[in-house]
Amino acid sequence: MSTETGSTSGTDIYTGACLCGQLSYQFSGAPFDLCYCHCSICRKLTGTDGAAYGSVPREAFAWLSTAAPAVYQPTPQSRRYFCANCGSYLLTEHTAEPENVFISLGGLDTELAAAPAYRQFTAGLPAWAAIHDPRPRHPGWPPLHP
Ligand SMILES: [Zn+2]
Ligand SMILES: [Zn+2]
Repeated sequence: MSTETGSTSGTDIYTGACLCGQLSYQFSGAPFDLCYCHCSICRKLTGTDGAAYGSVPREAFAWLSTAAPAVYQPTPQSRRYFCANCGSYLLTEHTAEPENVFISLGGLDTELAAAPAYRQFTAGLPAWAAIHDPRPRHPGWPPLHP
């Protein structure tokens, strides 16, 4: 989907962790389809105007920590994974793309070369969010979302 994936070897290792360090993970290959989501679920989950995500093939992702993440399922379609100790929201699964997981970019400890390319569910943006960057905005799902 993204142009960045062609430039990576697929063997780059990325790591991330929650705030307290109880949960940690790694995956291989650069995350793709980076985006911001401003839907009501993502706003409530993060307590701010939205969340930033990247897609990672499920088979490339692995938890490194032995502690089990807390899981919350706000809809039948998605599962959200948190640290039960510090509350960091690290990972999402969605039935629309079972082959991928969606990492919360704020949990990454590895720097990314790319940045989110668009914003989705901007119809829900509150006025106080005051986001004025030039990224494409989609009121709901982007057109190519499965
Ligand atoms: Zn934690
Ligand atoms: Zn969302």
